[in-house]
Amino acid sequence: MSTSHFIHSLFRPEVLALSAYHVANASGFIKLDAMENPYTWPQSLTDQWLARLTHCQLNRYPDPQAQQLSSALKLRNQLPESVDILLGNGSDEIIQLLLMALPPNSHVLSTTPSFVMYKQISDSLGLHYHGVALREDNFDLDLPAMLNAIEQHRPAIIFLAYPNNPTGNLFDVTAIERIIEVAHGLVIIDEAYEPFANNASFMHKVMHKVLVMRTVSKLGLAGLRLGYLVGDTEIITQLHKIRLPYNINVLTQASVQFALDNHAIFDAQTKAICVERTALYDALNALSGICAYKSAANFILFKAPQEEAGRIFESLKSQGILIKNMSPQGGLLRDCLRVTVGTPEENQAFLNALKIALNDSLRG
Ligand SMILES: *Cc1c(COP(=O)(O)O)cnc(C)c1O
Repeated sequence: MSTSHFIHSLFRPEVLALSAYHVANASGFIKLDAMENPYTWPQSLTDQWLARLTHCQLNRYPDPQAQQLSSALKLRNQLPESVDILLGNGSDEIIQLLLMALPPNSHVLSTTPSFVMYKQISDSLGLHYHGVALREDNFDLDLPAMLNAIEQHRPAIIFLAYPNNPTGNLFDVTAIERIIEVAHGLVIIDEAYEPFANNASFMHKVMHKVLVMRTVSKLGLAGLRLGYLVGDTEIITQLHKIRLPYNINVLTQASVQFALDNHAIFDAQTKAICVERTALYDALNALSGICAYKSAANFILFKAPQEEAGRIFESLKSQGILIKNMSPQGGLLRDCLRVTVGTPEENQAFLNALKIALNDSLRG
């Protein structure tokens, strides 16, 4: 049997049909493609962190419940006793856990566009994924279309990113509440960008079918891989059963704990990023041919002149600046690019390069 035949006889068709999640090689670039916090720590804080890590026992398995860290996260988020928390190797893993727990042939609902992993993981598990298009005028939920889709497909899980990636906006609260009201299954409010959303959150509305998911990635700890899901104790208990026993390693447990103890630095950094976001938004909209959309996250989606997104992306790249070209996804994202808010210097370099790219496309 040829290798190809062998592989086709071995794996599920939905796995064979997938393409791997593509991550651009960023070495040498000003990296504004992945919503990372651009700031590092002062040396004194790094020294304290390293001192803390010397207590980690690498020869021992981590605490399987990550009890200390879970308690610290509950405290930091002021969670009531009635809810529980599930930690994941990034919120990506939590999305996977939620979907793995569903019966075969379940339906999953989100918006188009939204975070790509909802569909990617649903597809990989052979679930039926539906993305309801957002409103063209403001990227908000198309409530009648959402309600229709819920009635038609009876999704076991609805994912709503709040703020949404890649559009950056917060969906209308009343519309979300209506969706919660009619949902037959779980509603996961994905608050990956909560640190930048000026306290907009559903954390105080967690109960029964409403769960809130957060991550430390966009806050400034993307390298550690820690996400968490807050929800009804009995629902979280079921998910713990399918979680791998040691999914949060000792270094991540200790490092996030350390970060929570020193949250003031992240508060200051996220505040600086929000100030820069406003400056970047204004500067983008001042460029002729560019339309930037308001964002409650640490990135900005903007529209380039028609059919120019690819060329602008490549021009920026050739000038050493990596952002994300969303245009290939089509639909509402046609002609759109997404830039992460960087340091003032990085943003200025990006704007300078964008001006050159725009002039090039006018000439071209
Ligand atoms: C980045 C992102 C995530 C993934 O976060 P990780 O914790 O790094 O896996 C989840 N949801 C949304 C909307 C995101 O943009």
